[in-house]
Amino acid sequence: GLSAEAYCRRHEITVIGDNVPPPFTSFEATGFPSEILREVQNAGFSSPTPIQAQSWPVALQSRDIVAIAKTGSGKTLGYLLPGFMHLKRTRNNSQMGPTVLVLSPTRELATQIQDEAMKFGKSSRIAVVCLYGGAPKGPQLRDIDRGADVVVATPGRLNDILEMKRISLHQVSYLVLDEADRMLDMGFEPQIRKIVKEIPARRQTLMYTATWPKEVRKIASDLLVNSVQVNIGNVD
Ligand code: ADP
Ligand code: MG
Repeated sequence: GLSAEAYCRRHEITVIGDNVPPPFTSFEATGFPSEILREVQNAGFSSPTPIQAQSWPVALQSRDIVAIAKTGSGKTLGYLLPGFMHLKRTRNNSQMGPTVLVLSPTRELATQIQDEAMKFGKSSRIAVVCLYGGAPKGPQLRDIDRGADVVVATPGRLNDILEMKRISLHQVSYLVLDEADRMLDMGFEPQIRKIVKEIPARRQTLMYTATWPKEVRKIASDLLVNSVQVNIGNVD
């Protein structure tokens, strides 16, 4: 195999942070449990994508991350699989509310994330619930009541359900802002900030974005602590 330096050079990976661990250049290197490695194999994936290779070891150290990589680079599993490992460690009761919360800008993206989470989390018996607008609340509230380890939500609908006091975020300790740039473009910043107020400060926060404009930098500096930044390819 390649050295960590050669791997990063070849895949245009740059990192900013203290003592950043080297990338996992193979699935075997991740130490993920066999039920997860089996799903990865079933999906026909031969190796981690660069954003996965570099964000997995950082996320598994329970550190905050900003990951910047273009669309189609495999960011979803970049945060989901360490989220599953986090769930295994915490062993929270899903009836008390989710442990992992993923915020996503649109219904379409949220359901794609839910599909990926259900596919890769099924053999680990992870309960995934998706909350989005443009659909009746009833079934979503029933899904919450049945118990969720992972909630994938658009900020607007989650905020509505929070105001109804039909979900508790007090157990959330792994927060993901996916497509952070798009969420801010769509005007979700006030809802995101309200949601974050409901989550304990003692948490791991991960931000995945395709671009890194100053609005995204600002919210990252407000919500993340001592984060490691992982870039794939050329960013400004
Ligand atoms: P992004 O969020 O960066 O736009 P996605 O997470 O949606 O990217 O992934 C894009 C596609 O790549 C999906 O179909 C996903 O299943 C697939 N994929 C994810 N990880 C790998 C991998 N390690 N090898 C091959 N394909 C992968
Ligand atoms: Mg994505």
